[in-house]
Amino acid sequence: MRPKFLEADMEEKIALARELMEKCELCERKCGVNRLEGEVGFCGVKEARISTYFFHYGEEPEIIPSFTIFFSGCNFNCVYCQNWDISQFPERGEVIEPEVIARIIEGAYENGAKNVNWVGGEPTPSLLYILEVLKHVRVPIPIIWNSNFYMTRKCMKILDGVIDIYLPDFKYGNDECALRLSNVPNYFKVVSRNHKLAQKQGELMIRHLVLPNHLECCTKPVLDWIADNLGTDVYLNVMGQYRPEYKAMKFKDIDRRITWKEYEEALEYARKLGFRVRG
Ligand code: SF4
Repeated sequence: MRPKFLEADMEEKIALARELMEKCELCERKCGVNRLEGEVGFCGVKEARISTYFFHYGEEPEIIPSFTIFFSGCNFNCVYCQNWDISQFPERGEVIEPEVIARIIEGAYENGAKNVNWVGGEPTPSLLYILEVLKHVRVPIPIIWNSNFYMTRKCMKILDGVIDIYLPDFKYGNDECALRLSNVPNYFKVVSRNHKLAQKQGELMIRHLVLPNHLECCTKPVLDWIADNLGTDVYLNVMGQYRPEYKAMKFKDIDRRITWKEYEEALEYARKLGFRVRG
């Protein structure tokens, strides 16, 4: 299938993204700062900075090799972030001209990349840059949005017609855990809404990372919600590779890896709901 961005009116998408950044409401924090004038909001992202890019072979088998581009900065502060050295330091990384990255993407495509995978940190604060890059890409490479899914509705609308595959991390089954571990308010309503929108807008591949001691409050409610609202045919990856990183050792509930028993219970729960379980 032809990637959506090749058919999109990129100038219009860019104009809409600029509008959202004037009083920034790219994500539901809605900081209201003028990002076009260099003001920064909660995420601290001033301009799009790329920490690294490479052919990723560690993603789901269906999407590898995935040409993955990591942005510095994030609108979440997850205390267990495995990429904290880039997600929590928006000033790190390099500013690279959109045309230059576009040529690099084209080279990756010629060398066998199946897609471009925008991630971070988080891609949302760098949406305008992503659109400016895609405006210059001339090869039919599918586009992946690999995200915490805290975008506003308006941001989702801009993504519609640009993104082929949505790859969300559905982390929490309730707002309390999201606030305590990621410093994010109003998590569940926003993220679940965006899952519904994404299912209509493109392909959806959901990831859920099982956290130790969070089966009842997070894993099971997340899986229940997905089964009830998106169906059990949706692509679901229940991930067991959590390891305590960054500040996780300060939080008793998540200061260890998950046990086999916890992981098995998560997979079994998913199977019982009717999912074809990957993990
Ligand atoms: S993208 Fe950054 S500046 Fe914009 S609303 Fe979200 S946290 Fe605030």
